[in-house]
Amino acid sequence: MDSNGSTHSSSSGKEDGLSQLSRSAENAKRIKNVQDKFVNGQSLAKEGRALVGEGVLMKVCRKKPKQRVFFLFNDILVYGRVVMNGLKYTQQKIIPLSEIKISTPTDCEENPYSWLISSPKKSFVVRANSDRERQEWLAHLDRCVYHCRNTNQSQNNAVAAHWVPDDRSDTCMHCHTTKFSTYNRKHHCRNCGYIVCDGCSKKRFLLPHLDSKSVRVCDACYSKLTKNSTNESRPTHQRDSSDSEGEENNGHYSPVPVCLSRHILITISSHICIVGHFLSERRKFLKKTQYHRELND
Ligand SMILES: [Zn+2]
Ligand SMILES: [Zn+2]
Repeated sequence: MDSNGSTHSSSSGKEDGLSQLSRSAENAKRIKNVQDKFVNGQSLAKEGRALVGEGVLMKVCRKKPKQRVFFLFNDILVYGRVVMNGLKYTQQKIIPLSEIKISTPTDCEENPYSWLISSPKKSFVVRANSDRERQEWLAHLDRCVYHCRNTNQSQNNAVAAHWVPDDRSDTCMHCHTTKFSTYNRKHHCRNCGYIVCDGCSKKRFLLPHLDSKSVRVCDACYSKLTKNSTNESRPTHQRDSSDSEGEENNGHYSPVPVCLSRHILITISSHICIVGHFLSERRKFLKKTQYHRELND
C-alpha cells in the first residue's frame, strides 16, 4: 500500500494529521488525479476528505480472483478495474467506511494475506501480495473505519453474505444430493452465501440491506429468518409447498443447520446470475403448470 497519510498518521495525531492532510494542496491534487483516471466515475473531491493510501489488490470473486486498484480515503473506500496499462480505471465502486466491517476470512490457507471487507450491499475478500502489505492495509483501514463508525450514528449493521465461490462445490450445500449441471444451475442463498440448488432455495425473503425486493434464500435460512422476523423484516412470499416438484424433494431434504460464523468467507459479486436460456426441465415443467414465477436469480 502506498500510504499518503503515513507521515501524518503515526502515534497520537491521527485525526489531526488526516484533517491537516485533507486541507493540503498535495491531497487535493492526488484526489483529482485519481478522479481523472476513472472513466465515468463520480466526483471524489469533498471537503475534509483525505486520500490515505492506495494499492493494487486481488479481489476474490465468484468465478476467479481479479486485480483491482483500491483507494482508501478517510471516509470511503473506492476501487476499480485497471485498464490501459494503469492509465485509466473503470467500474468505479464506492463504499462508505461507516458501513464497512473488516475481518479475517476463515479460508486463509487458500487466500493468504487476505481479509474480508463486509458491507450491506456487498462483501468480498481481498488479497495482498505480502503479509507486510496486508498489515499496512489493515492498520490504515482499521483506524479509518473505526473513526467513521464512531462518528456516524446512522450506521447500518447488516452486511451482505459472502458468496461461496462457484468452484467450491458441485453438489448442493443444503441437500447434499443435487449435482449441478448446465440444466441444474448453482444458486446462492443471499443470507448465508451457500451454493444451493433451485429446489432448496425456492423461498424468498426481504433482506432490506440488500434489496427492496425479496431475495432468494435457502430453506434453512428461511426457517431461521422467519422465526427471527420482526416488523421490519417479513417474509414476502413463498412458493406453494403443494407444488409437485416440492413434494418430490421434501422427502430427501436434509437441512444443514445454518451457522453463519462457520461459513466460508468469500466474495459476492454484484452480478445476478441470469437464468437466461438455461431453463431446467423443472422450470419448463413449472411454467407449463403455471408455477411460472420469474426467477430473477
Ligand atoms: Zn439442494
Ligand atoms: Zn442460506
